[in-house]
Amino acid sequence: MATENWIERADKVLMQTYSRAPVVFVRGEGVHLFDERGKRYVDFLAGIAVCNLGHAHPKVAQAVAGQAGKLVHVCNLFYTQPMIELAERLVAGSFAERVFLCNSGAEANEGAMKLIRKYQKMKGRPERYKIITMKGSFHGRTMAALTATGQDKIKQGFEPLPNGYVHVPFNDLEALAGAVDEATAAIMLEPVLGEGGVVFPEPGFLQGIRRLCSERGLLLILDEIQTGLGRTGSLFAHQAEGVSPDMMTLAKGLANGLPAGAILATEEVAQAFTPGSHGTTFGGTPLVAAAAVATWDELTRPGFMEQVQRTGAYFLDKLEALARAHASAVTVRGRGLMLALALKAPAAGLVRDLLELGFVVNCTQETILRFLPPLIIEPVHIDSLCQALDGLLAKMDKES
Ligand SMILES: *Cc1c(COP(=O)(O)O)cnc(C)c1O
Repeated sequence: MATENWIERADKVLMQTYSRAPVVFVRGEGVHLFDERGKRYVDFLAGIAVCNLGHAHPKVAQAVAGQAGKLVHVCNLFYTQPMIELAERLVAGSFAERVFLCNSGAEANEGAMKLIRKYQKMKGRPERYKIITMKGSFHGRTMAALTATGQDKIKQGFEPLPNGYVHVPFNDLEALAGAVDEATAAIMLEPVLGEGGVVFPEPGFLQGIRRLCSERGLLLILDEIQTGLGRTGSLFAHQAEGVSPDMMTLAKGLANGLPAGAILATEEVAQAFTPGSHGTTFGGTPLVAAAAVATWDELTRPGFMEQVQRTGAYFLDKLEALARAHASAVTVRGRGLMLALALKAPAAGLVRDLLELGFVVNCTQETILRFLPPLIIEPVHIDSLCQALDGLLAKMDKES
C-alpha cells in the first residue's frame, strides 16, 4: 500500500528516463539495504560500483557529518583543506601529478576530452582532434561523452553529435592501429568494459595501446570510473596490467556515494589547462572532498585490497560452479569484485526474482548478470546469493 503510494507519486513528477524496480529504499547498513516496509536485501550492486565501503560506513558518515557542521561549500575562487588533502592522496596513489575535481563521471570525461584538444594545440598540433574509443564502451550521457560511447542506443535521437569520434572493437590492436591517422589526438578506453558487459582486456592489449600511443604521440586516457578505487582488486585496474596512462578519469566510488569525479593527469598534460580554461562550481567542494578523503583512507588501509582479491576469487569459483551446473548459463567473467554471469536468455526476469528473494543485482546488455557488490561483502553473503541463483537457474534450464 505505502509502496504503491510512493511509486505513484514518483511516476507523476519524475521524468521517465529510468525503468526503476518497484522498491523504495529508506536505509542501508554495510552490505544491506532496507525498503520502507522493513524488508532486508543484500546489495550486490552498490549503487553501480559506488558504495564500495558499503552503506552508512561509520568513517564516511562521521566525515560528512563533521564537515557538514563546519563548511559545506565556498566555490573554487578560494582554497579549502579537504580538496587539497584529496588531491594529494590521488597524486600519491597513482601515476598522476595533477588533479581536477568535479562531480560525476560524464563531467570528468567531458573535461578530459577538452584537455586532450588543449594539449594537442599546446604541442603545436591543432590538426589532431579525433578520439578513438571502443565499441561497447560507456563514457556517460553528456553530448561529447555519449558520442565517445561506443553504443548506438545511447546516441539515438540526439543527433547532430559532435564530430571527431572513431570506434574500434575492444581487444583488437590491429583495428586500433589501423584507425589512427594524422588527425588522431588520443585513445580513450575503460580497462574493463563495464556497461558493455564486463569484458576484460586480453593479455597485452593495454600494453599494446600504450606502445601505440607513445609511438604516435597520442594521449592514452583510461576511464576508470567503474573499475577504479579497488573494484577489480587493485586500487586502479590498469595497475595490474603494467601500464601507465597520460590521463585517468574517476567518479562512482570516489566519495562512497556522494557525487564526485576527478580528472588525473601527468604534469606534462595538465599544463594545457590554464586559469579560465575549465571549471565547475561544485568541484572539490569541502563536504564531498571530506567524504572522499575518508573513503580513500579506508580503501588504502593495509590488507584491504588483498581482502577484495580473496573475496573476488571466492565469488568467481562459486559462479563457475553454477555455470558448470546449469545449461542456462554460458560463461563467467570476473576480477576482484567486478563479475558477470552470461546467460543464454534475457536476465531481466532473474533480476526481478532475485529482488523478490532479497538480493539486489543488475543485468547489462540484456543477458549479462552483473555483480558489483560493496567491497566489504563476505563469503556468507555470496553463498546465500549463489544458493538463490542455483534454484532460479534450475528453473531457467527447464525453460530453455
Ligand atoms: C558510470 C560511468 C560513466 C558515467 O558516470 P556518471 O557519473 O553517470 O556520469 C562513465 N564511464 C564509465 C566507465 C562508467 O561506468
